[in-house]
Amino acid sequence: MSNQKRKITIVGAGIMGISSALNLIRRGCDVTIIEKEIDGEPASFGNASWLSAPSITPVLTPGAIYKIPKMLFSSNGPLFLRFPGVIKILPWLLKYLTYSTAKRVNHISKHLEPLLRNSIDEHKKLAEGTNALQWIKEAPYLYLYKNKQDYLKDSFSWNIRKNYGFNLIDIQSDELHELVPGLSKEYTFAIKIENQGYIINSKKYLKDLLEGFKDLGGKIIEDEVIDIISNEKNIKAKTNNNEILSDDIVIAAGVFSDTLSKKYGANVPLQSERGYHLELRKTNIELKYPLMNGYLKLAITPKPTNGIRFAGLVEFGSLKSKPNPKAYDLLLKNAESMFPGISYGEKSEWSGHRPATIDSLPLIGKSPIDEKVFFAYGHHHIGLTAGPKTGEIVAKSILRDNNQIDLTPYKPNRY
Ligand SMILES: Cc1cc2nc3c(=O)[nH]c(=O)nc-3n(C[C@H](O)[C@H](O)[C@H](O)COP(=O)(O)OP(=O)(O)OC[C@H]3O[C@@H](n4cnc5c(N)ncnc54)[C@H](O)[C@@H]3O)c2cc1C
Repeated sequence: MSNQKRKITIVGAGIMGISSALNLIRRGCDVTIIEKEIDGEPASFGNASWLSAPSITPVLTPGAIYKIPKMLFSSNGPLFLRFPGVIKILPWLLKYLTYSTAKRVNHISKHLEPLLRNSIDEHKKLAEGTNALQWIKEAPYLYLYKNKQDYLKDSFSWNIRKNYGFNLIDIQSDELHELVPGLSKEYTFAIKIENQGYIINSKKYLKDLLEGFKDLGGKIIEDEVIDIISNEKNIKAKTNNNEILSDDIVIAAGVFSDTLSKKYGANVPLQSERGYHLELRKTNIELKYPLMNGYLKLAITPKPTNGIRFAGLVEFGSLKSKPNPKAYDLLLKNAESMFPGISYGEKSEWSGHRPATIDSLPLIGKSPIDEKVFFAYGHHHIGLTAGPKTGEIVAKSILRDNNQIDLTPYKPNRY
């Protein structure tokens, strides 16, 4: 048997690429990541930073179709459609809506759950031996409501979470305002879920994971993969400047994965679901816990230097268009409505693309037509949480280790 290490190329250094890379190098492979923008700020950087096991229900749940007009036309609405791009993706959007039935949502939740279940522990395992460990913070989550009746209107999703064993703790108004100083008095009820967590500093977390990968002998090339060419014995990543040969390749390019993976049998339609964040720093609010505002579809996360990241919004039709400045105005307006006395010394804004599959499940595992090609993308709203588990699954698939969950629901050609 040859002593040569198995050579793997990974396309993309978002959380999927890094998680796959660390899992593979720790299993003795010779791993190279090709990333088109090493100091870029992809979805894995700009997200709300939640390691959220309870996020097992998709964005669309039964009745979504009736809520959409309100979301679109309300001045605080979290949903944007960008013209003319959205016209092209109308067939995708209409089909996407058909995944909001109770049966389909239950199917999605059942198969998101194993990817999210132990996210904090999985992240700690991933970060072990690297400086990234310091950025993982455990904390309960608080889901805010104006009153308990509104919470009960969301019972469908909450019952699913209950059925998967999440302990939902009712928090009444007085306790809520003690836990979240500065919160608007409009909010009088919350659900608390213990034992969750978030990433304190997303940029440093990703950077420290990459450093850990390099310390283990991992290589990183800054270039764009423009094609993947399979030969009988190996696989070639053709980049703008080079050609890199390896035994296997992992496509982990987030929303940009589609163009490379179609040729290898991936048939699950993918679209960009653009999101935004506004980060206020040096605020006068000392936020201790991540908060979810279901009305505004906003995740609110503590950040360094008394910072608060307000992340969310959903925009379709915009992979190529510029970020919408109105979205940042809306985030600021929402921040000020939730924390009426908020003041801040600094702010930053970000926008990026969630890789949204039509059925809200990611593509993970081997290509149906080439044994040397693997997929790790399409994680929608839950990619940060699911990254380490996905990386482990990919590594096991490549190394033919069958000791793992059933991958049928994530099959790249399931559509
Ligand atoms: C506003 C917002 C809030 C969110 N909040 C959360 C949250 O709190 N918790 C959670 O779990 N998830 C959250 N998500 C979702 C999560 O961020 C994504 O699912 C996840 O980051 C996707 O990771 P990825 O590695 O697949 O893609 P990305 O992070 O997009 O990384 C893909 C990488 O591939 C590179 N690349 C692309 N094409 C090529 C190419 N051809 N050659 C070389 N490199 C290439 C890109 O430059 C990029 O660095 C949120 C998303 C948004 C937008």
